[in-house]
Amino acid sequence: MAPIRLAIVGLGKIARDQHLGAIEATDGVNLVAVASRNAQLEGVHCFHDIADLLASDVGIDAVSLCTPPQGRFAQANAALDAGKHVMLEKPPGASLSEVYALEALAKAKGLTLFSTWHSRAAAAVEPARALLVRRKIKSVSVEWKEDVRHWHPGQAWIWEPGGLGVFDPGINALSIVTRILPEPFHLVRSDLTFPANRAAPIAASLAFEMVSGTPVSAEFDWRQTGPQTWDIRVETEEGPVVLTHGGSRLIVDGEPQIVEEDREYRNLYRDFVSLVRSGTSDTDFSPLVHVADAFMLGRRIQTEEFED
Ligand code: NAP
Repeated sequence: MAPIRLAIVGLGKIARDQHLGAIEATDGVNLVAVASRNAQLEGVHCFHDIADLLASDVGIDAVSLCTPPQGRFAQANAALDAGKHVMLEKPPGASLSEVYALEALAKAKGLTLFSTWHSRAAAAVEPARALLVRRKIKSVSVEWKEDVRHWHPGQAWIWEPGGLGVFDPGINALSIVTRILPEPFHLVRSDLTFPANRAAPIAASLAFEMVSGTPVSAEFDWRQTGPQTWDIRVETEEGPVVLTHGGSRLIVDGEPQIVEEDREYRNLYRDFVSLVRSGTSDTDFSPLVHVADAFMLGRRIQTEEFED
């Protein structure tokens, strides 16, 4: 079967940090073009933006959108309209209505839409899911605390409406929790801390309940310097199940089980190839639903101004 001819749109931090290497390492997909207003890549066709890419005679089968969520709908819509399969960075869009519209469009066109969640592709996630089906869960607590200056230097879009602020990393935790818990859960409290000069929160304190009433708490904070915390702790009647390092390590009843090198993006491109080959889509938007709820039920707390 011929490899998928892929174009990256938005050659920024994540495209360079992860996508280029993962595509290179994945059978069945070749990078043939890049569309980015301010960046070029040697050895592939380069375009200013997706409109120029789609209007060109360079043959592509699919695009991988690595741009910020605001504006992603127009790019995905144009790509699907032109008959291209689409892979979306997380979060899949800036609103729920737009991502459901894309899902319907991809279905109508018979094209693959892949709403990726890179943290879900971490090594400990599927083993934790399999384990938790067999255990009685007492409580879940998520701590996702990192240094925004280190991970998002100078990214103005992330502080704008639709950029999600601290939910940009927080949605990664939610993408894991929605995968590993055997029951749905819903938000019951949301406290959002906004810097006085920003349109997006720098911290969030959330309380959810599973259908059974089991509590799920989440603390997201972008002000953590020093060691970073990306942990999910599930207390069960049989003992604790803990995912650390963003889901790449698993500790069960105090015993380390899985420690793996980071393969998240290679797993995503492997999955994209198989989705395209099987003519299917993967569009689970549930992490974005929880984030939307957090904004909808959110109590706004103001804190000091934030400067990069
Ligand atoms: P970034 O460094 O700002 O790169 C995004 C690129 O998109 C920019 O370099 C820009 O390239 C292009 N772009 C197109 N329209 C834009 C606009 N209106 N404003 C700003 N840039 C625009 O952002 P990123 O960190 O790579 O994040 C992109 C997506 O990946 C986000 O959804 C983010 O959540 C996700 N992600 C990021 C990380 C991370 O560690 N940073 C990790 C996982 C996932 P041109 O100016 O050349 O067009």
